[in-house]
Amino acid sequence: MDNISRRKFLKISAATISGAATLGAVGKLTESVEQFSGKIFRNGVQKIPTFCDICFWKCGVIAYIRDGKLWKLEGNPEDPLSRGRLCPRGTGGVGAHYDPDRLKSPLIRKNDRGKEEWVAVTWDEALEYIARKMQAIKSEYGAESVAMFSHGIGGNFLKHTLKAFGTHNFAAPSFAQCRGPRDVGFKLTFGEDISSPERTDIKNAKCLVFLGYHLGENMHNTQVQEFSEAIQNGASIIVVDPRFSIAASKAKYYLPIKPGTDIALLLAWMNVIVNEKLYDRDYVEKYGFGFEKFKNEISNYTPEWAYPETGIEPEIIRRTAYEMAKHKPATLVHPGRHVTWYGDDTQRSRAIALLNALLGSWGRKGGFYTPVSMDLPEYPYPPYPKPNKPKVDNPNSKYPFAIETITNGIRDATISGSPYPIKGWFVYATNLIHALPNEAETIKAIQNLDLLVVIDVIPSEIAGWADVVLPESIYLERYDDLNVEWFREPFISLRQPVVESPHDQKPNWWIAKKLAEKIGLNEYYPWENIVDYLKYRLTAGGYDFEELRTKGIIKGTPQPIYFDQGVPAEFPTPSGKIEFYSLQLAQAGFDAVPKYKKPEEAPPGYFRLLYGRAPVHSFSRTQTNRILMDMYQENEVWINHVIAERLGLKSGDYVKLKNQDGVVSNRIKIKSTNRIRPDCVYIVHGFGHNSKMLRYAYNKGASDSQLLTRYVIDPLMGGTGMNVNFVTIEVEV
Ligand code: SF4
Repeated sequence: MDNISRRKFLKISAATISGAATLGAVGKLTESVEQFSGKIFRNGVQKIPTFCDICFWKCGVIAYIRDGKLWKLEGNPEDPLSRGRLCPRGTGGVGAHYDPDRLKSPLIRKNDRGKEEWVAVTWDEALEYIARKMQAIKSEYGAESVAMFSHGIGGNFLKHTLKAFGTHNFAAPSFAQCRGPRDVGFKLTFGEDISSPERTDIKNAKCLVFLGYHLGENMHNTQVQEFSEAIQNGASIIVVDPRFSIAASKAKYYLPIKPGTDIALLLAWMNVIVNEKLYDRDYVEKYGFGFEKFKNEISNYTPEWAYPETGIEPEIIRRTAYEMAKHKPATLVHPGRHVTWYGDDTQRSRAIALLNALLGSWGRKGGFYTPVSMDLPEYPYPPYPKPNKPKVDNPNSKYPFAIETITNGIRDATISGSPYPIKGWFVYATNLIHALPNEAETIKAIQNLDLLVVIDVIPSEIAGWADVVLPESIYLERYDDLNVEWFREPFISLRQPVVESPHDQKPNWWIAKKLAEKIGLNEYYPWENIVDYLKYRLTAGGYDFEELRTKGIIKGTPQPIYFDQGVPAEFPTPSGKIEFYSLQLAQAGFDAVPKYKKPEEAPPGYFRLLYGRAPVHSFSRTQTNRILMDMYQENEVWINHVIAERLGLKSGDYVKLKNQDGVVSNRIKIKSTNRIRPDCVYIVHGFGHNSKMLRYAYNKGASDSQLLTRYVIDPLMGGTGMNVNFVTIEVEV
């Protein structure tokens, strides 16, 4: 942690910035306001459709431009994701455009890495520098020694450039630090993963079960809207969470479970449903594989057995099991999204999948629908060079069921140099310092690099460690790749610029294309401008670019999405059926049916650290957005009111959190409440920034990531279970 405490903050001299400005950019941004599609109305207001990027959900937006300036954002009523309404973050996207702390020009590191002293340069200088370093890495180690971390659709063109360069090491924290175990657990069971947006038919569910899934605070727009509909329709809601979340406040049953014991509860529920023959017998008989063995494996996990583990009384376990069975198959046990908790997360997700299988909800209305999409050809680029080495993140398939690249696997390889050295990182739109656990390991890896390029809109903590920082235009100022969504109805949506970038920021496609040209990969960008690229793909698919530009969305013909509408009940598992008993897991040395292992207890005087989302922020990416920060300025630590009283604390008092490894957080306000169990504390993720360039966010609240020094690797897929850290409360004097 020494490296972190010694950090000095970014210093950019005004002289270097103004000097760079006179040098000019490599080329003029070819998209301009004249090309925007919106009609101008009598009062001088222009309406332009695009889609949101404050989170990855990609909701359709109508941007209002008044007197040439961005005025407000609303949902596009034609868009199936936003359905005409944005979440608070989407509406607050205006603040991202006007954010005075945005990155404004390319920067090159001036001094030792970590000292954070920079020179503002032209785009040409920045790209020349990057290209030179990339070629040097390629000559010495091979192109595979360059890796990329990214988040969201905006990374597509940079990935294309790096694939053309010769690497295939691309990862996103959304797998190993978020939804990966869920997708693997469901794939092992049904042969398909959950996808994003989730294929959950929330609005038609008659019974909804959330385990630690705090929808409403976790603000995925369509799901929140569907949740409201389900509530209005009288759906029966069961929430399992150590914290009384917003979702819990809507529940018929709230189960304040002991953290880390969810598998015990799931096994007990399945035990009741199987033993009392409450499952969907026709469905299980028709589609299930290994049911008798499964039944045998779960026979001992009674509610009485689960009670001392979970703290949930047997009577409540039974009643909630009956409630689920009563509404089957329209009972949706939600698979969650951020599920990297304890390191046994794939098996927990598999238990959730198996419970859904018993209830017959996969492929059924009110359960899981089959997502559909439009058919749109890719651009006919030349083939990419074949990498000479396998991917670096998972040597010898150490994590045999990983279905995407493991971020922490790339980080490990960067530290160890094994199976081969990683010497270059491109980091696009993800603040790795906050996204990965154990900040010290991330910094150790960074110190082994010959090149770290960060492409982002704000000077996040990871930008502070970069050799080159490239300022990207925000989503309202650029085109991106087409969004060909997999959802309950097929559609294509367009992100297009509604205003110009205020400084020397550039869209990601421009950066990727210019970089490719610098490294001699011109043949991979036969198009001059992204509009040519977009038009090509749309025309090849039989769609009209102008129509898409005007409406923001083109919809396809509705298609069946449930088995009883004609969707074939196919399960691409080894048995071709729903795998109640997984031979492939058994053969790989894992439990064929999930088993429960007791979680580690907190040391005396410590509380388990839990973390989650706030409805007005996205990760650590929005704390410099003035509009969103005005709604929620700093996070609080939730602590049980009895404990708070015992410690002599009340709501509003400031404390620090100290974890089991002695790491001490920034100061954070107490929220003393009876809405959380006494054995854990909870904070909202994304606060406690220490990048001084994030002036508005600097030192506000505490960072959960800083306290996540421990993590437990999921042996099936390599994800990092992070709810394994404990903290004490340090009272401020
Ligand atoms: S959920 Fe909210 S932030 Fe995310 S894309 Fe939709 S409107 Fe934007």
